[in-house]
Amino acid sequence: MKEYIKNINTKIIIIDPDDIDWKLLQQAGQAIREGKLVAFPTETVYGLGADALNVEAVLKIFKAKKRPFYDPLIVHVSNLKEINDYVEVFPDVARKLGELFWPGPLTMVFKKRKLISDIVTSGLNTVAIRIPNHEVALGLIKEARRPIAAPSANIFSHTSPTKAKHVFSDLKGSVDIIIDSGDTAIGLESTVLDVTTTPLKILRLGGITFESLKRVVPGIIIATENTKVKRAPGMLSKHYSPVARLILVEEKNEEMLNRILKLALQYKNKGKKVGIIACKENFEKYPGFFVKVVGEAEDLDSCARNLYAQLRVLDELKCDIIISENFENKGMGRAIMDRLRRAAG
Ligand code: AMP
Ligand code: MG
Repeated sequence: MKEYIKNINTKIIIIDPDDIDWKLLQQAGQAIREGKLVAFPTETVYGLGADALNVEAVLKIFKAKKRPFYDPLIVHVSNLKEINDYVEVFPDVARKLGELFWPGPLTMVFKKRKLISDIVTSGLNTVAIRIPNHEVALGLIKEARRPIAAPSANIFSHTSPTKAKHVFSDLKGSVDIIIDSGDTAIGLESTVLDVTTTPLKILRLGGITFESLKRVVPGIIIATENTKVKRAPGMLSKHYSPVARLILVEEKNEEMLNRILKLALQYKNKGKKVGIIACKENFEKYPGFFVKVVGEAEDLDSCARNLYAQLRVLDELKCDIIISENFENKGMGRAIMDRLRRAAG
């Protein structure tokens, strides 16, 4: 009964991105203006949104997610021009990247203006901004007539939500509205790029690949544990985790299969329930275990899209241990491996 009373505080509205019900979206936009929390779909994962210019509203995000204040938020806007209001400097290279990749899964970190509160940026003098490639997200920002601060709509350090039901499961009762527009297309978070430094530095791998950024800006680098201050939360060493303990097996081919089978048997013999994340080709290689397929090994976009949802399915099955295959370290595979390594802690 208590659960039920908690749940009725969260309203779920369904909006088809191909046939938007603007009346509903206006209501959600108004809720943002009133300082409420609205979870909404983007092309990466679902976000937990609040008016980025309203400190009280932004504080609700941290409270709902149990997110520490040292983890800054991404501010979502609907067009390039608006960004000048929030940043001190809009470097030419960032403008070029914005024109090429926005709307899209690229977040850029700029020197911030005072208008953006320290709460949003965790006291940093920089602000992370992106234009999402999703009609509902863009519509919500326009209807709200505000920039929307939105981290992923999950409890802090949990896997990000790729379906509205994941948001409900994590945040029911503490978010005012959840907009359900079906599954997210990319399934992993945005790439975070620091454009305040030379060379430009990728702080978090994500939906725009290293390779495609490098084609435009050849000097771009990926920040390593040594070359960066701990400023991107996505950089925390334990993050994006399922409830079950995750083990990432880094061997290749036959060695990988053998190692996974061996580990899985060891845990099974100890009475543990074991789930396995695998590519389609290996579905039948682990008899007797709960195997969840993310996609064909070559189709890294599909593997990225399905990873978080399949991790959640194994959690729902109450697996104690999840053993994951590894994926090729190129394109979206880099982001997949980054998330799996962090989830493994
Ligand atoms: P989430 O949207 O939950 O994936 O979290 C937002 C992520 O954006 C953080 O984990 C950081 O990686 C990144 N971020 C936000 N603001 C900044 C900033 N000012 N500098 C560097 N990274 C940032
Ligand atoms: Mg997150």
